[in-house]
Amino acid sequence: MRVLMPDTLEEAYGMLAAEPLTPVAGGTDLLAHWPGNHDARKRAYLDLSGVSGLRFMHWGDEALTLGGLTTYSDVIWDSRVVEEFPLLADAGGQVGSIQIQARGTWAGNIANGSPAADGVPVLMAYDAVVVLGSEEGDQEVLLADFYLGYKKMRLRAHQLIRAIRLPRREYDFQRFVKVGARNAQAITKIGVALTRSEERWRVVVNSMAPTVRRCPALEAMLDEDRPVSGPEDLLTAIREDLAPIDDIRSTAAYREKTLARVLYFDLKGVCPSFA
Ligand SMILES: Cc1cc2nc3c(=O)[nH]c(=O)nc-3n(C[C@H](O)[C@H](O)[C@H](O)COP(=O)(O)OP(=O)(O)OC[C@H]3O[C@@H](n4cnc5c(N)ncnc54)[C@H](O)[C@@H]3O)c2cc1C
Repeated sequence: MRVLMPDTLEEAYGMLAAEPLTPVAGGTDLLAHWPGNHDARKRAYLDLSGVSGLRFMHWGDEALTLGGLTTYSDVIWDSRVVEEFPLLADAGGQVGSIQIQARGTWAGNIANGSPAADGVPVLMAYDAVVVLGSEEGDQEVLLADFYLGYKKMRLRAHQLIRAIRLPRREYDFQRFVKVGARNAQAITKIGVALTRSEERWRVVVNSMAPTVRRCPALEAMLDEDRPVSGPEDLLTAIREDLAPIDDIRSTAAYREKTLARVLYFDLKGVCPSFA
């Protein structure tokens, strides 16, 4: 196994342009798969941990920007983030364990491409933009448009996630719910991030489709204040937006029913059209 260790972003971009390399940030996803994956040991890796200036939180007038090496812990312990973007702390605090939160990065959560990723729904509900860097310069992609299919994304081999930008807005509703087998070290059975800003809803769900995704049919129901008299009234929109499967963690039927109940009971006192 070869591991390259750049000190600067420019060096990292040069190395990535020269040969196929797998970036390593916190290593919490990559290393978990090594024992059973012999091919993984033959690959060459780009260890990002020594790259200066990649772990930051920058507050601008218009946006909060997280660096490509910013961890869950960085965010969870920052009182300003907790106040303005509370869902980042909520979701980050439910990832794995304290040890995983200390090493795992938001960029790694995005690039891993898991449909069960817990960081991605809240970033997407805040309309996050992924900043991809390379020798060719930066490219920006809305996170909601980033995924193309299961583990497929708009990230080319010579690019790194350099930063994640979150527009600063007034929100009058923000909520993240993770349903798992227990409170820590649990992969999500269903998860949902909800935000409302300027009367526009974002509904983002994980573990119910090949990728984390926004739910346009549910968002339209909420934006248009359509009457909802019980959880079952949400099932048609859920089936339009999502495609859950039976797997070792849950069944498609449980996922649909639970999401409908979570949405209904969380929004009942918030949306006047919910009876
Ligand atoms: C015990 C355990 C529990 C876990 N629990 C949860 C959980 O509850 N919820 C959850 O969502 N996840 C969980 N995870 C998964 C993991 O911790 C997260 O996905 C984490 O955010 C990954 O970040 P990382 O920095 O460790 O990524 P890495 O493992 O370093 O990399 C993950 C992937 O992203 C790529 N990558 C990393 N950084 C970049 C970058 N800047 N640019 C381009 N590509 C990049 C890597 O090449 C790799 O493909 C768990 C993992 C473990 C081992």
